Amino acid sequence: MASTTDYKIDFTNFYNIINNELKSTATTRAAVNPSTLAPLPAVPVSTKADVDAAVSAAKAAFPSWRDTPIEKRAALLNTFADAIMVNFMDFASLLALEGKPPTAAQFEVDFAVKHLKGTAQLRLDDEVIEDNEEKLTKIRYTPLGVGVGIVPFNYPFFLGLGKMGPAVLAGNAFIWKPSPYTPNTALKLVELAAKIFPPGVVQALSGEEDLGPMFTAHPDIRKISFTGSTPTGKKVMAACASTLKRVTLELGGNDAAIVCDDVNLDEVVPKVALGCFNNAGQVCVDIKRLFVHEKIYDQFLAKMVEVVKTFKFGGSEDTEGAFFPPVQNAMQFEKVKELFTSIEKEGLKPVIGGEVEAEAGAKKGYYFKPTIIDNPPENSRIVQEEPFGPIVPVVKWVGGEDEVVRMANNTDMGLGASVWSKDLEKAERIARRLEAGSLWINTHQDLAPNVPFGGFKQSGMGHDWGLIGLKGWCNTQSLMTRRSGGMF
Ligand code: NAD
Repeated sequence: MASTTDYKIDFTNFYNIINNELKSTATTRAAVNPSTLAPLPAVPVSTKADVDAAVSAAKAAFPSWRDTPIEKRAALLNTFADAIMVNFMDFASLLALEGKPPTAAQFEVDFAVKHLKGTAQLRLDDEVIEDNEEKLTKIRYTPLGVGVGIVPFNYPFFLGLGKMGPAVLAGNAFIWKPSPYTPNTALKLVELAAKIFPPGVVQALSGEEDLGPMFTAHPDIRKISFTGSTPTGKKVMAACASTLKRVTLELGGNDAAIVCDDVNLDEVVPKVALGCFNNAGQVCVDIKRLFVHEKIYDQFLAKMVEVVKTFKFGGSEDTEGAFFPPVQNAMQFEKVKELFTSIEKEGLKPVIGGEVEAEAGAKKGYYFKPTIIDNPPENSRIVQEEPFGPIVPVVKWVGGEDEVVRMANNTDMGLGASVWSKDLEKAERIARRLEAGSLWINTHQDLAPNVPFGGFKQSGMGHDWGLIGLKGWCNTQSLMTRRSGGMF
């Protein structure tokens, strides 16, 4: 039994982890802290040779990992979760450099570890579908082989572990490909995993934007689990078609929240506002379209502005308990600013925000003030598109339930949606008509390791998490034993 000090790692230098060895590359690159614009420690730029080495180590590791009992695999995941906690403050500080105030970074690490522990409790038992004198028929779920998790920048720690946990628990060998904007925590997590899992079971490679396509093209990879934008998801799916890789696509969202006229504004507005601006709008399941009943629209909007004014934004250096980060990178910052310019051109009305804090001299970094747009038309860009930044449209719901359901479903996206009401029967009646993979009543973005998560329409395909997510890391196999009769 290893002592906790065996799991203390050094956070200075960053390597690829291939076959449980720390590997450097000829070229390196550095991500940028979005609150100070300072470079982070350099990370490897992987080449095709590095990809081949990792895939071949994973392929070699797979048969014995597949045959390792799931209880043992789960136990190692639990050890890994405990080992992360041994390094809690180091991980949280590094995650803060990747673009969050310390409070939010600590929250993410803690949430991710709990999620990992919850994942380790899942089991995929054989399912007996008939058991009679003639035959015994079972359905089995067997791991696929080598799987790759392609991870976005917004929750690099949680979303990466959210792929690794189920992949490895199900018996696959897993390679973690972080976003080039947030590679550092991922490499350290897998460096730690290398102290716990057999060689080749968990590996990580960082690189430039050409790294993802090297994985999607590789013939020895059986599955890509991708989280990112819808346009990139389409490219991933197209690339995977040539080798018929399994794909899970967790893509963009344009979540609706429907607020009925009976809510207690003091209770509901702070929750809804948090659901809109969590991580500065950079959550796939942030509320991105708010439909508020006309009877309470004015009071709701006034209260929301009041609440949002109290939100503290900050970066890695923050010491005042800020929870909301800057926009994570220059590319995304430009997108948010461009969207706001078009909002101005359309003559729409921000009731708060609309300013770039850095330009106003208040803060360095990619800070955009939380912005609320008052009742924009349904066809405006801010209603139709996912901003992935702190701009939220609040739309007046005029008419009955049919009308609000129509408006909420009027999008190509379908990730999450929520209904807020004291009348739970009515809320569920409305929710059941919404086209989204995750429905919430009186809450939003409430995620759990035992609940499947995935999108409708162009928000994705397949699921992460829960038994359905675990099955996504498996082949479905039937096993029939003939007890009498048979052969036609
Ligand atoms: P992105 O699509 O730009 O990148 C995601 C990942 O894909 C990165 O690791 C990137 O390096 C990699 N990548 C880029 N091009 C690739 C290619 N051709 N082949 C393979 N990999 C490639 O997304 P992002 O900007 O990092 O993240 C923001 C988006 O992610 C938003 O749209 C957000 O809604 C979505 N998102 C979805 C979920 C979900 O669970 N549904 C969760 C978080 C974020």
